[in-house]
Amino acid sequence: MVGGSCLCGGIRFEYSRAVTDVGMCHCSLCRKVSGAASNAVIVVPESDFKWLCGEELRQTFVKPTGWSTTFCRTCGNPVPQKLHGAAAYWVPAGALDDDPGLRIGGHIFVGSKASWDEIGGQAPQFEERPIPGASPRR
Ligand SMILES: [Zn+2]
Ligand SMILES: [Zn+2]
Repeated sequence: MVGGSCLCGGIRFEYSRAVTDVGMCHCSLCRKVSGAASNAVIVVPESDFKWLCGEELRQTFVKPTGWSTTFCRTCGNPVPQKLHGAAAYWVPAGALDDDPGLRIGGHIFVGSKASWDEIGGQAPQFEERPIPGASPRR
């Protein structure tokens, strides 16, 4: 099991299986939510995910476009949220307390990254979302 929690410890969760590596999203919304150059997320099937405590502390903010983020009401830490139209959770990798044994699988929305953002490593970079069959920017 890989466990995770928010900053105040009020919300705790664990999962047994992730179906992606760590995806780094550099879009303007993820930058706001993370307060950093990008958001780091992994996808976990709903059936492999479990809330351990603090479910009632979750609060969700939804933009008029439907884009949403879920966070701890006490400490503001982004926490897992259900993916729209999928039986899976979007899990913020920075909230994990254990080593998920994953690497960065790719960078998305690199076309709108911050001017000061320098992306390292060898993972593929995509202007926006990866399109099946399309080649990465590098
Ligand atoms: Zn918290
Ligand atoms: Zn994003």
